[in-house]
Amino acid sequence: MPEKTRAADLCTCEGSPMEAAAITRSIREAAADLLGRGVVDAVLGYSAGWRDEAATPCVVTRVEDVDQLVFGAQCTHNLAKYLVGPDGWLTAPYRAAQRKRPLAVVARPATMRALTGLLQEHQFERADVIILGITDGLPVGVEPDIQVGVIPEDAARNARIQQQLAELEAMTPEERWAWWEAQYARCIRCYACRQVCPFCYCEQCIADENQPQWIERSSSVTNNRMWNTIRVFHLIGRCVDCGECERVCPADIPLGVLHAKMRLEVEEAFGYVAGIDVDALPALLQVNAADPDRPAKR
Ligand code: SF4
Ligand code: SF4
Repeated sequence: MPEKTRAADLCTCEGSPMEAAAITRSIREAAADLLGRGVVDAVLGYSAGWRDEAATPCVVTRVEDVDQLVFGAQCTHNLAKYLVGPDGWLTAPYRAAQRKRPLAVVARPATMRALTGLLQEHQFERADVIILGITDGLPVGVEPDIQVGVIPEDAARNARIQQQLAELEAMTPEERWAWWEAQYARCIRCYACRQVCPFCYCEQCIADENQPQWIERSSSVTNNRMWNTIRVFHLIGRCVDCGECERVCPADIPLGVLHAKMRLEVEEAFGYVAGIDVDALPALLQVNAADPDRPAKR
């Protein structure tokens, strides 16, 4: 592990281009240092996208390429996604045989919470990643190995989700059902929400199985409800609120508020918040002998 370098004093980003530029500089310096000393084979981060409002995840393997790395408000992707699953950098069998050194990962706060959750789920070892962390003052579980920046909390998004939650809570169950049915009716079953989520790493997704076929593939209200219900239940107690599923949904389905509601339920029922304690046993893996709802022994 490299010695911890605190670059936060340089990078108190308030979202302005200068401050984002300071974070970009810190990322490039850290990447050049790690690659130059042979500590890592590669750095996973963001590069410029095809337009100013977009960024593209990228892997840099040579010191002379570190200037490809950028940081700004457009760098939203949860890069933890690239580490896991059948083709994941840290989990693909064909890579495991070749991999000699850890991977450096540029990690926004939500990416760090996802790394925490994936470590809790034993998807890889802490020593497999060197975290170039960007924090916002909220708990993220894992400590960055190198802190490359500080950004403000996304207060506007948090306020929007709270507002949506309050509106949904004010509905009757029948109104809420009708509201969600109307949202799900727009789903085109593109599975983009699954593809971006770091916690959707199953080798075979239940939505792709055809013997038996648990969920019909055609887009209908019933099938869409089934898909979205299975997906959200799969992510209960695991979702770290990165917002990527909602961002990529082409049908503009408010997945953020759906997951926010589930997070609240888990917190109220079990006192557990996903992605903030790497040593915690995930809520739905715990068995409480005193739970009054636990089935009696036969
Ligand atoms: S991204 Fe949106 S439209 Fe696509 S499957 Fe998910 S919920 Fe449906
Ligand atoms: S917000 Fe969506 S993409 Fe992000 S962890 Fe939760 S379910 Fe996955």
